[in-house]
Amino acid sequence: MSEHEWMHDIRALVGKEYGRVYAWDKVNAPMIRQWCEIMGVDDARYLKEGAVTAPPAMLQVWCMEGFTMNNYPPGSTKENPYEALKLMEPHGLSSVVAVNSELTFSRDVMEGERLYYTTRLDSISPEKTTALGTGFFVTLVMTFFSEKTSGDEEVGQLLFRVFKFRPAQTHSAQKEPAKMPAPAKRPPPGISDDTRFFWEGANQGKLLIQRCTACGTLRHPPGPVCSKCHSFEWDTVQASGRGTIYSFVVMHYPEVPPFDHPNPIALIELEEGTRLISQLVGVKPGDVKIGDAVQVEFNTFNDGELTLPQFRPVTQSAGASA
Ligand code: ZN
Repeated sequence: MSEHEWMHDIRALVGKEYGRVYAWDKVNAPMIRQWCEIMGVDDARYLKEGAVTAPPAMLQVWCMEGFTMNNYPPGSTKENPYEALKLMEPHGLSSVVAVNSELTFSRDVMEGERLYYTTRLDSISPEKTTALGTGFFVTLVMTFFSEKTSGDEEVGQLLFRVFKFRPAQTHSAQKEPAKMPAPAKRPPPGISDDTRFFWEGANQGKLLIQRCTACGTLRHPPGPVCSKCHSFEWDTVQASGRGTIYSFVVMHYPEVPPFDHPNPIALIELEEGTRLISQLVGVKPGDVKIGDAVQVEFNTFNDGELTLPQFRPVTQSAGASA
């Protein structure tokens, strides 16, 4: 199959080098300490006093934009290394998904070094069709350097591959163009042997938590192995359904039927100690507060095919004075 004519100019960009993107700050100990704290890294090489080594996996961190989008330090290129993707969009390739990312390291990076990277459009695959749609795998390679008066030194590379594609039409769109659209249903959960008990419990109005029968540790989301003692043996306990809002988001966009919007979604901490994600009901999105007490309820959707645990704030007047 010959290639679309419009791809010729885009493919001609392969091999193009894009200018430097500088780091806002030199490699520094406070940033390393905070990164290690967040990532749970406890290694003396990264945390000692004096000449600190940066964790290799931080490589990409140093040259990130600021909090504001596209806020790069002075001297950084204004070019868009993703221009090939932009140029595909007018041809219907509206979607993109990240495929893989590989870091390679040439040497350790030390406190006090100032980094920058350049980007090369490494390759564009032939047109491919996947379950997602038809398009092109586009690979970029960012090469990171440390500025040196004696000549800049390469310290590592980041390969980043995306699939830029025209979304595949869904079966219902292809086969039933004339029918009136049915009311949107909630997407059913993906149920595996590990998670089946949870959904079967929900069907019976029970909120079940997986329990390791070797050490008694409760866990959620469900999985085959206890993370504490590595036992494969488990049973379940029924939760009281009482909990508190540990964290939450209010989803404003996209507005996807059949969900209400804005749509408050919370991470609930059950009184048994495990946490689960669920939709909140019976509360205005603006009134949701971390720490509020909630109670599970089971609601059915999709003409009775689907039962979901949802959580409703408990009114303070019910028990506050007791
Ligand atoms: Zn265990």
